Amino acid sequence: MARVLVVNTGSSSIKYQLFEMPEEAGEPRALASGVVERIGEAGGKLTHRAGDAEPIVVEDRMADHSEGFDRVFKAFEKAGGPITDLAGIGHRVVHGGDRLTAPTLVDAATIQAIADQAPLAPLHNPPNLLGIRIAMASFPETPQVAVFDTAFHQTMPPRAWRYALPADLADELRIRRYGFHGTSHAYVARKAAEHLGRPAGEVNLVTLHLGNGASVAAVQGGRCIDTSMGLTPLEGLVMGTRSGDLDPAVVFYLHREAGLSVDDIDDLLNKRSGMLGLAGANDMREIARLVAEGAQAATEAMDVYCYRIRKYVGAYTAALGRLDALVFTAGIGENNDAVRAGVCQGLEGLGVSLHTKRNKARSGKARTISADDSKVAVLVVPTNEELEIAEQTLAVVRG
Ligand code: ADP
Repeated sequence: MARVLVVNTGSSSIKYQLFEMPEEAGEPRALASGVVERIGEAGGKLTHRAGDAEPIVVEDRMADHSEGFDRVFKAFEKAGGPITDLAGIGHRVVHGGDRLTAPTLVDAATIQAIADQAPLAPLHNPPNLLGIRIAMASFPETPQVAVFDTAFHQTMPPRAWRYALPADLADELRIRRYGFHGTSHAYVARKAAEHLGRPAGEVNLVTLHLGNGASVAAVQGGRCIDTSMGLTPLEGLVMGTRSGDLDPAVVFYLHREAGLSVDDIDDLLNKRSGMLGLAGANDMREIARLVAEGAQAATEAMDVYCYRIRKYVGAYTAALGRLDALVFTAGIGENNDAVRAGVCQGLEGLGVSLHTKRNKARSGKARTISADDSKVAVLVVPTNEELEIAEQTLAVVRG
């Protein structure tokens, strides 16, 4: 058995999970998990869960991430003993750019390379790096591995990642499509192939990660050939608060006509658009309530949301040449049958036939929700980014 700690350090939060990984056969086990919220703000809080025990909750101000990590280590001690026998610590890092294309053992060069990508992900890479530094100081003997959200998409061909901008300018500034949620797309693509009982190298999938952020990937024989997010997570689908695709001229128009600054527009498109902008709520459960009450804006927003996804499914079916399965995952993909039905409606021509009753049945397991005669299988596969990071970390540590 090997233990792996997975850490996701955000600007004001730390999420973590400790796994016991099997040597060969057997299932990995989550031993403990938790979240530290509102670091450096009022209302700081740690919630630590281990097995069936009552969660440990500590509400206290934490000045910085070092204090946050201290709370985590103390919670482990209180819950059953310090973290020992770690084979590795896996860190989620949002942006690997085009240089960090696989899970990487952290050394001075990796740290520099992650820092070099910071302009591409100014809100994410710096805290990710901070988490790595603190973990290295706390566990100097333990190998640290960085797992990148962008890595899975690095197999995209140039035709998918190039923007039609002047090539020298784009190359100099590294303006291209990178894609995100890669750890999730990779995990559900593998699990979907397992569920279908076919080798990953033989199946063509469209994976739909529909959470607060949302993205689609076209996966051909286990390799990503296209994805909907771009230079940043703003491109692509309609999301909780992000607009997704729009005419770039909207930006100039907002600037010239409404006098908004670049920062205002950044905030508008990332935090006040999407479902929040259209329907007045970004949580799909709230939107479902509004739809049930007959709110027209919410009904229309759902239509926009599902239609955008459907367009991508059509485009990616063309990119793949043949589609074997459509895979739904993340908070909305796993739990919202109305969205799944809305996406599949009208895709009959592509060979998608949803089974109404299977779609409505609730379960936490990977499952098929298409009709038996559907040419394209429709699956729900719960994602588990932490477990994927743990597995990739162990693979790197074991060489
Ligand atoms: P994040 O991108 O923050 O990780 P999640 O994957 O948790 O997001 O997805 C958040 C979305 O999933 C919200 O819109 C929420 O309404 C929806 N969601 C989560 N759980 C459920 C549930 N049990 N039933 C319906 N919708 C859910």
